[in-house]
Amino acid sequence: MRVSQFPLNTLKETPADAEIISHQLMLRAGYIRRLASGLYTWLPLGLRVLRRVEGIVREEMNRAGALEVLMPAVQPAELWQESGRWDFYGAELLRLKDRHDRDFCFGPTHEEVITDLVRREVRSYRQLPINYYQIQTKFRDERRPRFGIMRAREFLMKDAYSFHIDGDSLAETYRQMHAAYTRIFERCGLDFRAVEADTGAIGGNASHEFHVLASSGEDAIAFSPAGFAANVELAPCPQPDPAPAPGTEMAKIATPDVHTIDELAGFLNIPTEQTVKTLVVAASEEIDADLVAIVLRGDHELNAVKAEKHPWIAEPLRMAEAAEIRTAFGADPGSLGPVGSPIPVLADQAMLGMADFVVGANEDGHHLTGVNWGRDLPQPESADLRNITEGEPAPDGSGPIEIRRGIEVGHIFQLGDKYSQALGARVLDEDGREQVVTMGCYGIGVSRVVAAAIEQNSDERGICWPTAIAPFDIALCPIGAKKSQRVREAAEQLHDELQAAGFEVLLDDRGQRPGVMFADMELIGIPHRIVIGERGLDAGELEYQDRRAPEAEHLPLDNLIDALR
Ligand code: ATP
Ligand code: MG
Ligand code: MG
Ligand code: MG
Repeated sequence: MRVSQFPLNTLKETPADAEIISHQLMLRAGYIRRLASGLYTWLPLGLRVLRRVEGIVREEMNRAGALEVLMPAVQPAELWQESGRWDFYGAELLRLKDRHDRDFCFGPTHEEVITDLVRREVRSYRQLPINYYQIQTKFRDERRPRFGIMRAREFLMKDAYSFHIDGDSLAETYRQMHAAYTRIFERCGLDFRAVEADTGAIGGNASHEFHVLASSGEDAIAFSPAGFAANVELAPCPQPDPAPAPGTEMAKIATPDVHTIDELAGFLNIPTEQTVKTLVVAASEEIDADLVAIVLRGDHELNAVKAEKHPWIAEPLRMAEAAEIRTAFGADPGSLGPVGSPIPVLADQAMLGMADFVVGANEDGHHLTGVNWGRDLPQPESADLRNITEGEPAPDGSGPIEIRRGIEVGHIFQLGDKYSQALGARVLDEDGREQVVTMGCYGIGVSRVVAAAIEQNSDERGICWPTAIAPFDIALCPIGAKKSQRVREAAEQLHDELQAAGFEVLLDDRGQRPGVMFADMELIGIPHRIVIGERGLDAGELEYQDRRAPEAEHLPLDNLIDALR
């Protein structure tokens, strides 16, 4: 591939609204672009990585004997009513109506659909066990979409569902899936741990989560070298003060000079390392203020509602409808309250989980009242609900315990008969009797793996992809190609030879200065770089640098492919 045919979309500046390194680098290196809250387009470069991860997942699932299917993303409400989840799933379920006013949802997961298929297709225990999987787009109307594709609303998942005549058979497939997941994450070059997970509301016998170790992870996991590993919940975040009663005066502060988000941030004394991205402006009646501004930091992709009377605060903001705010919050309309709700409504528990500051302003915009809840997560080693303490022996006697933050990239589950019972998925057993099948389910956040890999593999210059999932294997950078036909030809020839030898090559044929080429290739994170110049050609060698190596080395031109292997 040549850059002239594969334009790069790199950015110099770090986007202000991206909090974690993977989100920043995916935007800067031109991997993804945001469409709306939790919705992202994968640019050609990003898609290459996604497809490589997908390829590894597919190979290992096939190797483990699972069969690929592709189910509809849109699912009829009836199935969810049968399983009882239509009422219980809550606001994360995106509900739709068709032109006949029939209810549907956009699938956040596919237990119902696959169980429906199996109850129709599978009649006998002889057809079991069976393990179906798909790699498909899911939609979850996350309360807090953030960190780019890490916690998106639309994302790519591999989900598998196995069906069995008994628990032993389920346990066997579960072991195979555990092994397949281990191979998948190893092949992706990730530092990960499989940990016991709470089976929680779903019940069932066993569940493991696969976590990529990263300080930006949202979960805390505890493990000992001898094998103990569990997802431990940390002590609850310090609860914010209760919402003020209607009419309560908060500290009043005069502010003659607040006209923009930045000024407001400065005024509120929000530390500079926090990025104020969005501001929700709503009229409020109950407190002595006409405006309520909820200032969120980080990746809350909210827009502002136009506050007609207050262009001083609304002007710099993108305008949007109140409905969009509700969608963006992932809140059902009730929990946000209409625009114009009094502060206690706006600041209800759901909102408090997200808002960093709630601010009211009076008519002329020159008085702001502010409440600020300081809400940082406790450090992992501080406390946890299972009384597991860093450095101490694990519950199984092994030790010492290490507590780290993790990103959940995979989850396997022995479901039992929850769905097969509810939907009546039965087969005839050996004795000709009808028996409800027993089930397992196995998910991988394919798109999340891409972000998790970057969290573990970057430096100050950009991404350092593990080779197995890099968008290209080798970057070819010709020096002085504009003037030198010899360099141009050598680069073209090398490109073709390396491609023919099975490498994915990106030839930078833009005629840019070396600094520009190198910066782009390092930002993008291509594992190997080869520089071709007149001087090297004279000496019969090429300059080679591994993305992670401090310095370049020289490789013989006539033996390059062997040297690279
Ligand atoms: P989380 O705890 O992060 O919300 P989950 O437990 O709700 O994830 P599962 O139902 O176990 O997710 O789904 C299987 C996998 O899908 C997860 O292990 C994760 O890798 C991925 N995943 C879940 N939600 C998202 C999301 N919003 N964006 C990207 N990937 C996700
Ligand atoms: Mg979730
Ligand atoms: Mg989870
Ligand atoms: Mg999970």
